[in-house]
Amino acid sequence: MSRYTGAVCKLCRREGKKLFLKGERCYTGKCAVDRRSYAPGQHGQNRKKTSEYGMQLRAKQTAKRYYGIQESQFHKYFLMAERRQGVSGENLLRICESRLDNVVYLLGWASSRAEARQLVVHAHYQVNGRKVDVPSYLLKAGDVITIKDKSRDSEKIKAVLEENASRPVPAWLDKNAETLSATVVKLPDREEIAVPVAEHLIVEFYSK
Ligand code: SF4
Repeated sequence: MSRYTGAVCKLCRREGKKLFLKGERCYTGKCAVDRRSYAPGQHGQNRKKTSEYGMQLRAKQTAKRYYGIQESQFHKYFLMAERRQGVSGENLLRICESRLDNVVYLLGWASSRAEARQLVVHAHYQVNGRKVDVPSYLLKAGDVITIKDKSRDSEKIKAVLEENASRPVPAWLDKNAETLSATVVKLPDREEIAVPVAEHLIVEFYSK
């Protein structure tokens, strides 16, 4: 399935939640969820009560859209999560959080996850001193991410860093704003993951 290229605010309105897909605008009064808190479309304001299956589907869609992950990849992550020790739903979110594009966004080195994906593909970041241009690269505890020396002079990177300098960084990432590097202290606990979703519903969806 191809990547969604329509208006991203519609995705948030469809899920009835802010998914923070548009960078700075998401934090302002211009956010479409704040202004029109009903689903898009002709019948958006008349939606009926959601079935159990509908709730499970919506939970899965919310998580996929939040992280910008395609169905096949997301399903692979679910299978990976099931094989790991612990609670499958939490494992799934932990895997999504540890993607390089997500971590770049959390560090404030991109304004949105979509922008982070693009900047990673353009090879602006290194992991443990090596170029990594794969957005889905999964980081682990102890990994060190840096902005490439050459990229530090890029007007784009400078603008992004300035725009997101004050965004709080989760405690599982140790960011050094001076050296433009960060260490993954550990993978996050559930309470450190902000995705607005009940992950057990995703597990139920895939376990049918
Ligand atoms: Fe649009 Fe961001 Fe608001 Fe979502 S959270 S509706 S992407 S402005």
